[in-house]
Amino acid sequence: MDLTLSEEHEALRAVVEEFAHKEVAPVIGELYERGEFPYEIVGKMGAMGLFGLPVAEEYGGMGGDYFALCLALEELARVDSSVAITLEAGVSLGAMPLYRFGTDAQKERWLPELCRGEKLGAFGLTEPGGGSDAGATRTRARLDNGAGRDNAGEREWVISGSKSFITNSGTDITALVTVTAVTGQAEDGTGRKEISSIIVPSGTPGFTVEANYSKVGWCASDTHGLSFEDCRVPEENLLGERGRGYAQFLRTLDEGRVAIAALSTGLAQGCVDESLAYVRDRSAFGGPIGRFQALQFKIADMEVRAHNARLAWWHAAAKMVAGEPFKKEAAIAKLTASNAAMDNARDATQIFGGYGFMNEFAVGRFYRDAKILEIGEGTSEVQRMLIARELGLDA
Ligand SMILES: Cc1cc2nc3c(=O)[nH]c(=O)nc-3n(C[C@H](O)[C@H](O)[C@H](O)COP(=O)(O)OP(=O)(O)OC[C@H]3O[C@@H](n4cnc5c(N)ncnc54)[C@H](O)[C@@H]3O)c2cc1C
Repeated sequence: MDLTLSEEHEALRAVVEEFAHKEVAPVIGELYERGEFPYEIVGKMGAMGLFGLPVAEEYGGMGGDYFALCLALEELARVDSSVAITLEAGVSLGAMPLYRFGTDAQKERWLPELCRGEKLGAFGLTEPGGGSDAGATRTRARLDNGAGRDNAGEREWVISGSKSFITNSGTDITALVTVTAVTGQAEDGTGRKEISSIIVPSGTPGFTVEANYSKVGWCASDTHGLSFEDCRVPEENLLGERGRGYAQFLRTLDEGRVAIAALSTGLAQGCVDESLAYVRDRSAFGGPIGRFQALQFKIADMEVRAHNARLAWWHAAAKMVAGEPFKKEAAIAKLTASNAAMDNARDATQIFGGYGFMNEFAVGRFYRDAKILEIGEGTSEVQRMLIARELGLDA
């Protein structure tokens, strides 16, 4: 077992670490407070190739692996999570479903601009009626032959329904949202819904992007509700095969959980970085507060959590990259790392005292950004459900 990074992975990690400190740290606080999307940073990340890290070169990607993407996410989230989630969602929810399940024509059409970061893709699974129970999708899509329309004879999907909380879905550079929709009944006689994924380009008539949410955290990221009212897209916008939507999003979420675990690890480590600097600088009772064992132990516990979180996501990513089953490991990593992020954010804020509650310090942002990590891409309860199921404990 080798737990050292390869030369390529270490070089990438170091480049992203430097980028986060030089390009993100100086500007992100103000963008966050104003709730502005970090277009310039996204452009720079695109030029560095980060949006194409795990995609093959023939589609404009860097030909790297998913582990590389996760390393980049960890380094970004050590400094800021809005930027990190923009990359995470752009790649693992925007580009990867197309890359994994799309036809050659779909990959050629969409992937190059997504990999360059010039455009963003989004994935619309969650609905107002529920996210954890994703099989309960209500959005519907029917095939229509266009009779009575200019394009009579050309079949189209007609989509109606709504989606909630969709990341990267409403930026000026959003190119598409892949949405899950009920397209009929499964043919296996179970009476289950047939769910498919359909690519909806931005600006399609009948597709409305609602106002940006006012969020507790991730304030410089882009999140919208979406509605579809008789929204027509060509038949060939079906992602891969009809009826494969359920399997596609399960795979997408398994991979996404490893990425969110890496991002959570970054936030947990960022709390250690900030706390170490602060306890050396801040004085109380005649000397630096770092001499108090109570704070030393707090920081030691924080480092342990970040370390364990990293081991958990490395393990899940290693299994995934090796082509082995990784569902349980992905859920363990997401649960471990999001807990670490929450606990470390709380402890770091405590170490900063009153300044921890001020927006000008990064730990205040970390505190607000940590909570969503226990919710997005499957709540902690859902992770426990998956782990129990993998252990043979079915409901
Ligand atoms: C900022 C942000 C960005 C997001 N980005 C995206 C995105 O890009 N695309 C997308 O599709 N979604 C996105 N989401 C949605 C996110 O994935 C869902 O919020 C999440 O999956 C939970 O779904 P829900 O909010 O409907 O909660 P619910 O499913 O209603 O859950 C409510 C509570 O019930 C618990 N619960 C539910 N079922 C069970 C059960 N069987 N056993 C025990 N407890 C249970 C949950 O754990 C939770 O505590 C985003 C959300 C946020 C806040």
